[in-house]
Amino acid sequence: MLFRRRKQTAKRRWRLSAKLLIASSVATVIGFSAVCVSVMLDMRRGEEQLARQMLENLAAGIDADISRNIELYDLSLRAVANNMVMPEINGVSKPILHLILFDHAATAKHFGAIQVFDAAGRLTHDASSLDPRPENRADEEYFQVHRDNPDVGLFISKPMLHRGAYSIVLSRGIFGTDKTFLGVVAGAIRFSYFHELFDRLKLEPDDVITVLRRDRTIIMRKPFDLDIIGKNLSTIRSWNASNLQPGGNFSGRGPVDSIPRLYVRRDTSGPLFVVVGKPLDAVLRLWNTEATRVGAIIALLILFVLGITLFLAREIGRRAAAEAKLEELAITDALTGLRNRRKFDAAIDNEWRRATRQKTPLALLMIDADHFKIFNDTHGHQAGDQVLVGIAICISDSVHRAGDCAARYGGEEFAVLLPGCGAADAFQVAETIRNKVMQWSAGSDAVTVSIGVASLTPVASMHWAELVEAADRALYAAKDNGRNRSVLASMPKLPMAA
Ligand code: GH3
Ligand code: MG
Ligand code: MG
Repeated sequence: MLFRRRKQTAKRRWRLSAKLLIASSVATVIGFSAVCVSVMLDMRRGEEQLARQMLENLAAGIDADISRNIELYDLSLRAVANNMVMPEINGVSKPILHLILFDHAATAKHFGAIQVFDAAGRLTHDASSLDPRPENRADEEYFQVHRDNPDVGLFISKPMLHRGAYSIVLSRGIFGTDKTFLGVVAGAIRFSYFHELFDRLKLEPDDVITVLRRDRTIIMRKPFDLDIIGKNLSTIRSWNASNLQPGGNFSGRGPVDSIPRLYVRRDTSGPLFVVVGKPLDAVLRLWNTEATRVGAIIALLILFVLGITLFLAREIGRRAAAEAKLEELAITDALTGLRNRRKFDAAIDNEWRRATRQKTPLALLMIDADHFKIFNDTHGHQAGDQVLVGIAICISDSVHRAGDCAARYGGEEFAVLLPGCGAADAFQVAETIRNKVMQWSAGSDAVTVSIGVASLTPVASMHWAELVEAADRALYAAKDNGRNRSVLASMPKLPMAA
């Protein structure tokens, strides 16, 4: 029983140290992983930042080209609108008027001919013809906008079929000096302009460029898709006015397909704005490869560290168990499992000094088997050994307190050290042991024990040998008085028989 308790203490000790090793390894692994994750996330942010800058630059380039051309075309429209209200043009011949009106009109290859409509929407002048065919545009949005609202300035229409080609129509109202509506001057920029502009750019297959009017109507998109040109995106949450602000960006699904992209809007003051998008896959392609590679290496390292840790923890456990076993063997009597003499000497030395310091009593029982030589001679040594084991069990079953030490003192003699125990209590323990032995060995070859009991509160001038001597004296008194009895040594008087 005692042996088992010792074993458990040893086990607890090694578990603590192995746990400490495992805990520190796990803490190291967590710390290391946290640093790696943080570095990888920084890298990811860096990649996204780089992609954002690249997309901003791309959007800026596209926006600059579109703004410049719209400005150029608007200058021509302004010139025609201003010329139309000059009093000098009244009475001028048609060819001269044509020259005056359209002399400065921009005529790039993607610009349509500028046309002038009167207040009723009738075509009056056309840059491409001296005698334009009758036409009425009173129903067109670009005509009605200027007629109903003199402050619109430059108006850009939704994409539409204009004179046989998909275009956006740019228009300005013509107003007299008294602000009366006199008509509209309009011109078109063909889609071919955007196609040519976008074709000049080097883009990856899923990259997207969208040109929008300020009210979020799609003017043009690459890849080109007629179905969504002219669609208004102000109802789509991520693209409405409160989101995707000038200079802003967002990651998510676009209005057309389900590919998640990083979208960047160019900050501009023109009538149109540009949004460019790149698939998140492409933005993070490099990072993904790197993260997978680093992640795999880290996972392997973690597995390696954990493997080594478990191996070491097991080794520590084995070593601690072996040490505990050796330690146990070194202080245990091989036959009885009680403490051996060496341990007893160490224990009495310790307890003596503690009792001296704390001024508490220390009791000692010296136990000796009666007529054991005869028992051995009659039943043999092996039977004698069994009896010694039995006596040891009776002793250890009677001694329970933490500091108590039951030892085989030598041969058929045992010693029990009882710290903090007064004479009366010690005598009680002795009697318990003696009775237990009697009960256990009851029969024809009954074995009994004689016990000498001594208890004293040590002072500094004494040595524990005096306690042993007193208990010994009491033991001899017990023998002398007929054996199978306990005798309490009266300190410093002579021992008394029980
Ligand atoms: P007393 O009542 O006076 O103590 O008589 P006793 O015969 O017990 O005392 P004695 O000292 O004359 O004899 C002790 C015997 O104990 C001698 C030895 O044979 C026996 N003995 C000592 N150690 C062991 C042991 O480890 N095993 C066995 N079986 N016997 C032992
Ligand atoms: Mg004896
Ligand atoms: Mg003896």
